[in-house]
Amino acid sequence: MGRKFFVGGNWKCNGTTEEVKKIVTMLNEAEVPSEDVVEVVVSPPYVFLPTVKSLLRPDFHVAAQNCWVKKGGAFTGEVSAEMLVNLGIPWVILGHSERRALLNESNEFVGDKVAYALSQGIKVIACVGETLEQREAGSTVAVVAEQTKAIAEKVSDWTNIVLAYEPVWAIGTGKVASPAQAQEVHFELRKWLKEKVSAEVAASTRIIYGGSVNGANCKELGGQPDVDGFLVGGASLKPEFVEIIKAAT
Ligand code: PEP
Repeated sequence: MGRKFFVGGNWKCNGTTEEVKKIVTMLNEAEVPSEDVVEVVVSPPYVFLPTVKSLLRPDFHVAAQNCWVKKGGAFTGEVSAEMLVNLGIPWVILGHSERRALLNESNEFVGDKVAYALSQGIKVIACVGETLEQREAGSTVAVVAEQTKAIAEKVSDWTNIVLAYEPVWAIGTGKVASPAQAQEVHFELRKWLKEKVSAEVAASTRIIYGGSVNGANCKELGGQPDVDGFLVGGASLKPEFVEIIKAAT
């Protein structure tokens, strides 16, 4: 079964209404491969989701950057999965390393969030990745396996999950993983899925790479057999995002 190339744009905590509209115009005017070839999902901050959803071309989709771990209620400052459903937002990014590090989101909490979002019908880009210290200690595969395990323990259906391998040392640093480094971890993650979940899930789940992807390095990274696309931060705010989408072909 072929895995459709997936390119996500994580706009993080950036933008004004005017800037967001400019990015959407740029995307709407871009000539990119068809939806049959590449799935494109952009993730603006919450407050811009309705604007982006209403203006964005229909073959691109939107994602929230987070959602609450259970049904909404007395959780000041949070946004629930139910609200995303109400707004017609089909995707959410969960477990991003910035949230894991800055907001102390544990593996278990991320696993619970993934399960809850899926239960509400929202598709999930679930992020895993090691720090530089963990890589240097030789524990990269153990770390991403543990993070993936915490998700696997809470979900039974992987159809609506895209797994994003994002080494923390590569995020926003300009230090991209080499194609061989990315391929090695993606291969290990797929092997883990095969052994611990099922051969079918391993074969069909998209594993995308994130961390300093840009127009210049995307082609070689995207050409690796187990790299099924990208989650892009900084470059997703720029015209070169279009080049990254084109790496699908
Ligand atoms: C990210 O935030 O998910 C990311 C990959 O950022 P950048 O592309 O800027 O490294």
